[in-house]
Amino acid sequence: MGNSTVIIIGAGPASLIAAAELASAGIPVQVYEQNKAAGRKFLVAGHGGFNLTHSEDISDFVNRYDTTEIQDIVRAFDNMDLVGWFNDIGIPTYVGSSGKVFPEKNIKPIQVLQAILAYLDRYGVQIFYGHRMVDFDHTYVEMDCGVDRVKIKYQRLLLGLGGGSWAKTGSDGKWMALLESKGIKLNSLRAANSGLNTISDYSRLAGKVLKNIHLRFEEIQKAGEVLFTRYGIEGSPVYYMNRFIRKSPFPVTLYIDLKPKMAKEEMERLLGQPNVKVIDVLRNKIKLSPVAIELTKELSKEVYTSVEGLAYVLKHYPIQVDAFRDIDEVISTAGGVYFSELDSALELRNFPGVFCIGEMLNWEAPTGGYLLQACFSSGHWAARKIKEAIWKEMNV
Ligand SMILES: Cc1cc2nc3c(=O)[nH]c(=O)nc-3n(C[C@H](O)[C@H](O)[C@H](O)COP(=O)(O)OP(=O)(O)OC[C@H]3O[C@@H](n4cnc5c(N)ncnc54)[C@H](O)[C@@H]3O)c2cc1C
Repeated sequence: MGNSTVIIIGAGPASLIAAAELASAGIPVQVYEQNKAAGRKFLVAGHGGFNLTHSEDISDFVNRYDTTEIQDIVRAFDNMDLVGWFNDIGIPTYVGSSGKVFPEKNIKPIQVLQAILAYLDRYGVQIFYGHRMVDFDHTYVEMDCGVDRVKIKYQRLLLGLGGGSWAKTGSDGKWMALLESKGIKLNSLRAANSGLNTISDYSRLAGKVLKNIHLRFEEIQKAGEVLFTRYGIEGSPVYYMNRFIRKSPFPVTLYIDLKPKMAKEEMERLLGQPNVKVIDVLRNKIKLSPVAIELTKELSKEVYTSVEGLAYVLKHYPIQVDAFRDIDEVISTAGGVYFSELDSALELRNFPGVFCIGEMLNWEAPTGGYLLQACFSSGHWAARKIKEAIWKEMNV
């Protein structure tokens, strides 16, 4: 049986920053990760856009989150703090044209991870790979390390176990059963930042992007790009709609404004000119993109040949969707440990000394850096609270 001040389970971004914050304050930290390496999902994120955070003003930034608890946590260690932290560990960043924050162009995701790990190493953080947490009580955490099981005494136990997508990265959501068995209330894990299956088959448009559109669901509207796939649609406005769509039973209808900058009346005027061919007006006057023109080919003859009908559909092109993608392939999951189970330090009310951080908490946000930011912020938050508590106990 070992003994350590702070035991952290999982080596994702939330855990790694927590380890950094604690260790740099002189508090001994051990990290246990079930995989053979740290930050596998972080590296998967790196293969995509790898938005570490977003540069928008924090007052707008926090509105991307669905719960006030995570908003407060993000405010306390915000996008500027995170950029500063990356700079401190040797990772300069830049702001892309979309406002998203990336590591400098010549820096690969693995180098970002290596910089974090090097920082932890400098402060003496020990990371044990191939150790899967299988149980914990008020005093011990139990690990399966392949050959046998070990019980380790903890003073503080920090759980950064991730969400429930991309199980092959280790974020398998299996911790749900363990926490539930301990009476901890959890919101079920659901697909977030997910593509949508459409009822109509758009596979002939697979890989094509509708740019500069507005996507609408009921009263909600989001600008951006929609990508067609063999099963349906993807893209940031689609992901944004997830949390609103989830409240209604499938199928639901989304509407695309194919030309947000042009009013319907102007379209009617252009389409209503004498002796014009509809396709010419769509292409040359309304200047619809080729992908949008492809969509108009789906319309019935009655709609296509009606000035009002066509103008209306160009502003409200219906896309019926009937499912989220399989949870394992989505970018993140909503659901997890309810904040009501935690005190303001993210410490489980019924398990004093045990903290939860990162995507395993019950919040959701769109992609674009907001996910990683909240994971880093929550890791930083819990670590700071632990640090302050330990210092108080030591009368520092
Ligand atoms: C394709 C893709 C692209 C993404 N792109 C972005 C992006 O550009 N920007 C952004 O902000 N976010 C992005 N994300 C989301 C982001 O990667 C995650 O939100 C983030 O990694 C979650 O961090 P975390 O520390 O909470 O958990 P994770 O990174 O999921 O780490 C949890 C760790 O805990 C370990 N673990 C779990 N259970 C146990 C156990 N019982 N014992 C021991 N270890 C355990 C796991 O093996 C894992 O290593 C993307 C995600 C995906 C899948």
